[in-house]
Amino acid sequence: MHTDDQAFAHLLEIKFAHIRAQQIMPEALIGLVEGLLPLLHQAKAQAAPALPAPEACASPEAMFAGNPLLLRESFPFDLAQAVGLMPALLDLLAASGGDAAASASALREAMATGQLQPEAALRAHLRGDDALFGAWRERLPGSPRALDFLVTCALSPSLSKAAEALAPRLPENLPHEHGHCPLCGSLPYISLLRDKEGKRFGVCSCCGHEFRLRRIACAYCDEGDQNRLKLFRVAEYPGVRVDVCETCSMYIKTLDYREMDKKYLPALDDMATVALDVLAQQQGYKRPTLSAWGF
Ligand SMILES: [Zn+2]
Ligand SMILES: [Zn+2]
Repeated sequence: MHTDDQAFAHLLEIKFAHIRAQQIMPEALIGLVEGLLPLLHQAKAQAAPALPAPEACASPEAMFAGNPLLLRESFPFDLAQAVGLMPALLDLLAASGGDAAASASALREAMATGQLQPEAALRAHLRGDDALFGAWRERLPGSPRALDFLVTCALSPSLSKAAEALAPRLPENLPHEHGHCPLCGSLPYISLLRDKEGKRFGVCSCCGHEFRLRRIACAYCDEGDQNRLKLFRVAEYPGVRVDVCETCSMYIKTLDYREMDKKYLPALDDMATVALDVLAQQQGYKRPTLSAWGF
């Protein structure tokens, strides 16, 4: 095993022991994500998205005006890999049993009969076209996010590989008063504090890119009035706060990684702190994005 893979496996071991000790998440869900992460990690190493020519990207002027480098619908991904990952992702879903297993069978069947076209679903997700996903959420009420999960996870390794390759094309000193991803224009699903100075970053819900956010501003509507922004913490979750905005009624969790050394996994920490989402939602705040894995 490669050293990087060993370090990753070790990190997962620690994180999952901690998540299990909390006894909040159902074991089926923990097991699903435990199988998922090594699969996505390996797939990212192998992904080969074809990058667009520089002329196909937004100009620096357009980016300084707030436009992303690329539109989501033209963001590069590895189509063969994404389609090829689907059977393994459905196997993981099936192994978690219950409604999720029934949804996995329904999706497998629909793909075998041509009723569900993998490529069309992948492209619909990138376009932000929710019609197909909405129809499947209604059709699979016991596990409504099964198709979201399948498509999001199939795309994630190559989108994040492409994002890493495209990030050097961003102009330096790009202003960060807009809350969206400068690479693909999507919203962050979580934010984090990093570095000694505690700079704040958003993690893109589509391509995984980490981009600067203003320290004191709503990540979703750009509200910067401190009287309209609140935050709360819960003693059981040190290092995590929930930022809420009275203007747009959205919330985002902020993970404090200032004290941690290099390795962290925002997607997993998001899942491990789901109790804070429940609290925020009980108070009437909304989260505009799904988890990094589509559920
Ligand atoms: Zn992005
Ligand atoms: Zn807001």
